[in-house]
Amino acid sequence: METTTSPYIIVKSSSIHNKGIFAKTDIPKDAQILEYVGEKITKKEAERRADLVLNASKNDKTMGAVYLFELNKRYDIDGNVPYNTAKYINHSCKPNCDADIYKGKIWVTALRDIKAGEELGYNYGYDLEEFRDHPCKCGSENCVGYIVREEDWGKLKELLKEEMPKKDGSG
Ligand SMILES: [Zn+2]
Repeated sequence: METTTSPYIIVKSSSIHNKGIFAKTDIPKDAQILEYVGEKITKKEAERRADLVLNASKNDKTMGAVYLFELNKRYDIDGNVPYNTAKYINHSCKPNCDADIYKGKIWVTALRDIKAGEELGYNYGYDLEEFRDHPCKCGSENCVGYIVREEDWGKLKELLKEEMPKKDGSG
């Protein structure tokens, strides 16, 4: 398989997480930037692989990355293949991209106009399960500190508040 690429992008080291993808040129809103490719697998196989990664990550925290993407009700895409350049796109709490399914393919598309040099990011859409294993370093002003889908931010903030040490009076 040939490594995917796009005239819009460049792969570089990132301050967020070792590698990242950056805009090589200005990218207009709604542009299909890069296809998210990988191995098409059944939901059952995807569950098995996710469990393997989860178990491995209990001993080795660097093993936490999951590249499974929901394609439809029956199939997922496992993007953890060497030819999938889109796997280097980092999570962001203030994303400039989204991953959309278009005619049976997953496309990373621009949510807004993106300037040359900006790092591309989308929300990985993780639920709250094991959220502590996925701290976020995206650096956006609204960063919630963990890689969690936006629908769960309210719940996440409640969880974090409950764990704050109780203070008397001041604070
Ligand atoms: Zn963040």
